[in-house]
This record gives sequence, structure tokens and C-alpha cells, in this order.
Amino acid sequence: MKIVSATDMVNKAHEGHYAIPAFNTNNLEWTQCILKAVQETRTPVMIQTSEGAAKYMGGYKMVVDMVNDLIESMGITVPVALHLDHGTYEGAKACIEVGYSSVMFDGSHYSIEENIAKSKEIIALAHAVECEVGGIGGSEDGVTSNGELADPAECKAVADLGVDFLAAGIGNIHGKYPADWAGLNFERLGEIKEAIGGKPMVLHGGSGIPFEQTSKAVSLGVSKININTELQLVFADATRKYIEAGKDLAGKGYDPRKLLKPGCDAIVAKAKELCEAFGAAGKA
Ligand SMILES: [Zn+2]
Repeated sequence: MKIVSATDMVNKAHEGHYAIPAFNTNNLEWTQCILKAVQETRTPVMIQTSEGAAKYMGGYKMVVDMVNDLIESMGITVPVALHLDHGTYEGAKACIEVGYSSVMFDGSHYSIEENIAKSKEIIALAHAVECEVGGIGGSEDGVTSNGELADPAECKAVADLGVDFLAAGIGNIHGKYPADWAGLNFERLGEIKEAIGGKPMVLHGGSGIPFEQTSKAVSLGVSKININTELQLVFADATRKYIEAGKDLAGKGYDPRKLLKPGCDAIVAKAKELCEAFGAAGKA
């Protein structure tokens, strides 16, 4: 099986009241770890890249080829979609051309009129499109905002264009959550859900949101949860411990295959935990 469309898996998750994990990847190891975790837990998955991460890996086509080749060489049988996260207008078009199965067009920094006009063009080109209304706090690859709450009427205007799933700011933040974070705004989430007529919603900044809040968001119509920071933190932590314990200096502990192993094992374990937490494990 090759990369598949995300639309079916997200719609199924929406009907079944669970959420598809959308893990950002950064390199070969990251991709292998995500695939290992979802295969072992029978989880349908979206693997996604930011434009910056794809550039780091050698370009969009390299990412498409890598994911397809790993699906084959690792004998992956669960559905895997490849998605562009926070795409620009140009980036979204380029990804559709080389074989990403879905793209997010993030026009949230444009005026709502321009966001609608550009979203419309991307929707006409792609099989599965995620659009964003209202900013999401924090920073992702240089895309920053103050995390306003999305306006339900604006969400409806964009959803009505035919987007497959909608990202909307509901108090969520990219990166680490500050200690004084106010939490997700469920009232606004409910209003948006009502306004967009039951279309699946996407929760960005899914790393580190308390479990009760994630489950409540899923029960209110969130069907895709983005995870980036959480895997980065467990990888860095395990790698730091390996080095601080002097293991890279013992024998051939400096061999990258040994040096990166604790971090990779940590990614697999955390990804499996999240697949279970989102209710998606066993759904493939
Ligand atoms: Zn995001």
C-alpha cells in the first residue's frame, strides 16, 4: 500500500468519535519510528511535514519517496497519509504536484477575504485540504500569531468552500504550554462546531494538552490532532541522558545507530501512548 488520502480516515474518525494522530516528521529515523508505532498499535496515521522540515530533508519529493519506500520496506499495512502542515499558497501547490495526499493551506495571516480566495484555489487543486481560521498561538516555522479565538462566522465561510477539515484557534498553542495557560476554550469550540455543520476539526499544538481536555475536544468534533513538540522533547531527553551517562564514550557508543537509539525508542513509546489516548489505536 502506498500513501493514501486523509479524507476517509478523518471522516471515519469523526463518525467514530476518535482522532487521527498527525505526527510531524523531521528525518528518516523519525519517520521509521512513527510508522513502527502505528503499525504495532494498528492506528491509521497522518505523517506531516512543515515546509521547513521538508526543505531540511531534501525537498517535498524526497519526503514522498521516503514515506512510500518505508511503507513498502517496513511492510506497513495501516493507512498512511502524507500531509503538508501550515503550507503557504506556493508550498501547498508544490506538494500536491509531487504526491502529498493532503495539504493544509494556512491563510490565517491574510484578511478573511484573501484567505477565502486563496483557500478556494487550493481546494480546487487538491483531494484533501485543511484550512486555518484565526491564529494559533506560539510559533511554527516562523508562522506566529497571538492565539486569538477563531470567529465562528469566518469558520463557516471557509468551511463552506469545501475544506475537508478545519483548523481553528480555540486557545491552543504551538510548542510548550506555559504554566499559566488558560486551557482550551470549549465554549468557542462548540460554537464553531455548530457553525460549520459538523465538519471534522483539527487541533493544532496537541503536545502537552491534558488528557481530559483532549478527550473533551474529540467528543466535540476534533478528529485530527497535531503532534510535533512532544516527540521532539522525548527524543531530546533520551539523547541527553545517553550522553550525560557517558555512553557515547564507551565502546562504539558514538555510532549514530547507537547514539540515536534511545531517542528513537522514546519516540515510538510516546507515539504509541498518543495513539491510545486519541482512541485511534486498533482502528486500522
Ligand atoms: Zn499548527
